[in-house]
Amino acid sequence: MPAVAPSPACAAPSRDVGAELHALVAELVPLRRCITGDGLRQTLLALGERVPLRITEVPTGTPVLDWTVPQEWRVRQAYLARADGTRVVDWAGSPLHLVQYSVAVRDRMPLRALRAHLHTLPDQPSLVPYRTSYYAPTWGFCMSQHALDALAAEIGESGEVEIVIDAEHVEGSLTYGEVVIPGETDDEILLSAHACHPALANDNASSLAVATVLARRLLDGPRLRHTVRVLFAPGTIGAIAWLDRNRADLGRIRHGLVLANLGDAGGFTYKQTRRGTLDAPLPIDRAVALAMRDLGWALDVRPFAPTGYDERQFASPGFDLPVGRLTRTPHGEYPEYHTSADDLDLVRPASLAASLDALWAIVMALDGDGRYRNTQPYGEPQLGRRGLYASLDGPAAQQAALWVLNLSDGKHSLLDVAERSGLPVATVRAAADRLEEAGLLVPTDR
Ligand code: ZN
Repeated sequence: MPAVAPSPACAAPSRDVGAELHALVAELVPLRRCITGDGLRQTLLALGERVPLRITEVPTGTPVLDWTVPQEWRVRQAYLARADGTRVVDWAGSPLHLVQYSVAVRDRMPLRALRAHLHTLPDQPSLVPYRTSYYAPTWGFCMSQHALDALAAEIGESGEVEIVIDAEHVEGSLTYGEVVIPGETDDEILLSAHACHPALANDNASSLAVATVLARRLLDGPRLRHTVRVLFAPGTIGAIAWLDRNRADLGRIRHGLVLANLGDAGGFTYKQTRRGTLDAPLPIDRAVALAMRDLGWALDVRPFAPTGYDERQFASPGFDLPVGRLTRTPHGEYPEYHTSADDLDLVRPASLAASLDALWAIVMALDGDGRYRNTQPYGEPQLGRRGLYASLDGPAAQQAALWVLNLSDGKHSLLDVAERSGLPVATVRAAADRLEEAGLLVPTDR
């Protein structure tokens, strides 16, 4: 099918952005993110160098929906050491070695007793797992099974290990950041990425990087009809705090996506909205499928389930927001998930760039959607007399014009046209623009 030159607002980002995205992921990976604290703030500051971020601090103890904002967790040092003082594992080397939110400990115990506080991956013996215990006060260390086996061989089960966790839980605040790209209307597209995992590249530095570069490009591009809001918040509690703080304005959200795991080499997976699963697909559900179809990329579509990332909060029954979830390989389905192998090698420039292209196409499909009324619905209008054969360049554009004219009965949208005709969203959008200029269409929904 011959391609039609897209209108400027539909021009896709260039491909050389992969290296830029990978460099941003590399900048974010070392920051010691958690659900609160300075690593999270440093992450938002880094993103704020690229886009104008509005930062919100919600104080410890603030009730948010059914939750309470927790204390901040601050770590000065944490390690396990042999009797001679040499370190077995050290938080200074990698934040993955300490269970996030571990309470303070200074103790010695035999390896036999310490094992209850050690986390390894016996099936992936060279990798260090990522573990958290935000709401249950406990402590623990994460290490490779190989390192643990080597320690056991060296000191035996009764060998003493020194435990130091110099950490405190203090009154502070929970931080989230938002960038808003103003549109012609208050109708909003919400994009949300969690920002609480330290050290891991795909989950979640990849989505922070892709969402930030998308926001920069939207800010630099022509104004859209929709306002686009990009939210960077710690998982679960951050989304809950944001929802609590924005409860009165949630009605403006017309479409949304939770973004995660956008850098691995796997194909795209889309988790449908709650309403799209229970009733009929919503525009976001359809726009994601159409954008991938137009890009020629496979898409694994899954129904909504109340598990996963922050779509759980956005789609809780009281809110039931039209928010789906876009990932490449979903959480838990790639072997490096929540391990030290989720690193800069797992995340690929080409995958990051393609994720950006996909998101761009999705936003453009949503923003370009609309309903129209054909002003000449009795018989086909004469396109040649209006100069439309010249401006509708090529057979696809002319087919698109016929489809748009036929389905513009005020009930069907351009997404309907793109689905039924098999023609690209951008071609359909461009045809509608030409027909509107020629007076053959009038919008019925704006
Ligand atoms: Zn995760």
